[in-house]
Amino acid sequence: MTILDGKKISNQIKEEIAAEVSQMKENGEKVPHLAAVLVGNDGASLTYVGSKVRSCKKIGFESTLIHLPEDTTEEALLEQVEQLNQDKDIDGYIVQLPLPKHIDEEKVLMAVNPDKDVDGFHPTNFGKMALDMETFISATPFGIMELLRRYSVPVEGKHVVVIGRSHIVGRPISILMSQKGEAANATVTLTHSRTTNLKELTLQADIVVSALGVPEFLKADMVKEGVTIIDVGITRVPDETRERGYYITGDVDFENVSKKASFITPVPGGVGPMTIAMLLKNTLLARERHNSAN
Ligand code: NAD
Repeated sequence: MTILDGKKISNQIKEEIAAEVSQMKENGEKVPHLAAVLVGNDGASLTYVGSKVRSCKKIGFESTLIHLPEDTTEEALLEQVEQLNQDKDIDGYIVQLPLPKHIDEEKVLMAVNPDKDVDGFHPTNFGKMALDMETFISATPFGIMELLRRYSVPVEGKHVVVIGRSHIVGRPISILMSQKGEAANATVTLTHSRTTNLKELTLQADIVVSALGVPEFLKADMVKEGVTIIDVGITRVPDETRERGYYITGDVDFENVSKKASFITPVPGGVGPMTIAMLLKNTLLARERHNSAN
């Protein structure tokens, strides 16, 4: 059994990006600049954004955190988005989700300039991804693909069962793994909350990508020997015995499922760190594309 070590691979990717950034500096070129917009004080969002900004600093990117109060109006947020679209110094930016309930998320994501949409959430970028065109692939599915590639996990011709059909993970990863290319060419089944025979399907899977967000949902009796497991789930489970009051767990009963698996991602330390690394990679790509466009 091989652990797909997302922490290790993400560090490698960050080192590769850092080397490119120092080359840019030596050449007197502008370095990539990522901005992050955070509305409100959601605990998990604060952690994610903080970690993205810290990662930028470590690899030599410029970064800007725009932290707006919880009661920011939709209009004010759209104005902020427009400013970022116009700001020539910003190569890419993200609007951290979820947004407060009074703001229409779709409206905000639609307002992001697709050339700066390093999260790959804009319909233009999602559409290009689905058509195999040059784009920004959302960081989580991009990270899963990169992890599979770097460990040379056999994917071609395999049966992949994806659990969860979200726009940011389940849907895009099912498209990417069914396309032509490396870590792809698979036969993909996309399952969701209305699937009636999930266990029957997961038992046939060579690879399971689990992205539903239910702690330890996938049990050992739901998978076959030799399966590859990609656990995308991240859930904070309350636990008074821990200093921070919770622990983090994935969608997979790791202890028992890992005994049957040939490859498996841990949580934490699997897909999570890859997501940040690929956001940085997208920002570097944005910088390079802006360079070649000028
Ligand atoms: P979501 O929360 O938007 O939706 C959950 C999906 O699971 C839905 O499509 C639903 O149909 C499906 N589902 C729910 N119950 C099911 C069941 N019993 N059987 C089959 N399918 C079922 O999805 P999301 O935003 O992709 O998040 C999923 C998990 O992944 C969450 O834990 C989230 O925190 C985590 N996540 C992790 C990363 C990362 O970087 N590792 C990135 C994004 C999301």
